[in-house]
Amino acid sequence: MGSTGQKFKKAAEDIAFDERHRKTIQFNISRYDTAVAKGMARYNDVEKAKETAGAIKRDVLRNWGQYLLQFEKNITKNGAEVLWAKNTAEATAYIEQIIKENNARLLVKSKSMTTEEIELNHTAEKLGCESVETDLGEFIVQVAGERPYHIVTPAMHKSKGDIAKLFNEKFETPLESTPEELTEYVRQVLRKKYTTAQIGITGANFLIADVGGISVTENEGNGLMTTAFPKVHIVIAGIEKIIPEMQQLGLFYPLLAAHGTGQQMTAYNTIFTGPRKDNEVDGPEKMYVILLDNGRTDVYADAEARESLACIRCGACLNACPVYKTIGGYTYDTTYSGPIGSVLTPFLRGFKDFSHLSFASTLCGKCVEVCPVKIPLTDILLANRRKTVEQHLRPGYEKAMMKGFEKMASKRIGFDVVSGQLKTFASRPFNKFGWGPGRLMPEFSAKSFSQLYRKRNKNIDK
Ligand code: SF4
Repeated sequence: MGSTGQKFKKAAEDIAFDERHRKTIQFNISRYDTAVAKGMARYNDVEKAKETAGAIKRDVLRNWGQYLLQFEKNITKNGAEVLWAKNTAEATAYIEQIIKENNARLLVKSKSMTTEEIELNHTAEKLGCESVETDLGEFIVQVAGERPYHIVTPAMHKSKGDIAKLFNEKFETPLESTPEELTEYVRQVLRKKYTTAQIGITGANFLIADVGGISVTENEGNGLMTTAFPKVHIVIAGIEKIIPEMQQLGLFYPLLAAHGTGQQMTAYNTIFTGPRKDNEVDGPEKMYVILLDNGRTDVYADAEARESLACIRCGACLNACPVYKTIGGYTYDTTYSGPIGSVLTPFLRGFKDFSHLSFASTLCGKCVEVCPVKIPLTDILLANRRKTVEQHLRPGYEKAMMKGFEKMASKRIGFDVVSGQLKTFASRPFNKFGWGPGRLMPEFSAKSFSQLYRKRNKNIDK
């Protein structure tokens, strides 16, 4: 295991026993669970909806290039400029150029994990351009100097009290402020930013091929405000976000909302099809759409992992995952965390440094059960594990231990050659190598089941 793997292991061991962290996450996820149960109850046949959505995204994967080109053609016709970025460096170069050309000093940004992936805030700030997050959760983590903790709920790890304290320290708002008062405070701060920013940046929940549209779905109206005032709108989207037809949003919008937050529909759903027209009073004069690969075609090239590109980033698999709920979002140290992050990150950032994430799963299958597009996450995690072993990225002792176990377990008698006491003694080092010092290894019984069974039968025979 490389240094990132060791770092992950250490961080996981530390946070798994942080009771305060666990309490906050469990409270926030329990609220999510209640809301999602209501969201699911609105469906007559949610499985049918999931199958249909999954089938559409798999059709996309079969005809990926064709839909992307159709999207490019249609949105270009409407006046937007499409820029293809192979990696973070190319996307960053485009953004730097646009910031410089527009002499931008302030940009506002609606929530987008793709911009996190390319560390856009960092790029802007290097050029002396302030970058302001406008989604409330993102704003909170930005003020705290942190990154999003969760792909849908960036400040999930913070309680009301944590946020009141943070705002008191940074903005001198009263410590006893209610969430409503703090939201109102942020609203006032952001109004000024929207109206003075030169550039607005959004991601895309869906790229719509047949109309050349960018669909942005959000709950605070900040996506709309981000694009209404600034003269330039930049969209940064992963190339997997494409869907063939606008009418399919009728399926995807409620499915994403129900799985993401339990809502029937997200409050604000906007489709951008190009910059402002001559007869329109607001909207940007220029619109750029940066289509980012950044390892997605590597995922596509792997037949076993390909289906993970169907992900619509609802976050449901994170909330369902017992590992995520124990170690939290920051431990992964990646843009995408939880089961989908563990599947994708080795491809996006290299098996050498991130294959350990494929092992951060109990394989309980809950993530597969909740996924609205039916991605076989556990199968892909297992395939990733196999690839990790094939690439000789696992520690040598692990192979020796597995061989030893195989030998011992191949015959029943193998379990009985040593006493229970010796097994307990021999298992102690596992606390150090993987089980974690905070957990106790079980005591082995003095006699094995078969030994007890034989003894019992002998007694009966007597
Ligand atoms: S893998 Fe499925 S459950 Fe997880 S974020 Fe993507 S769509 Fe949602």
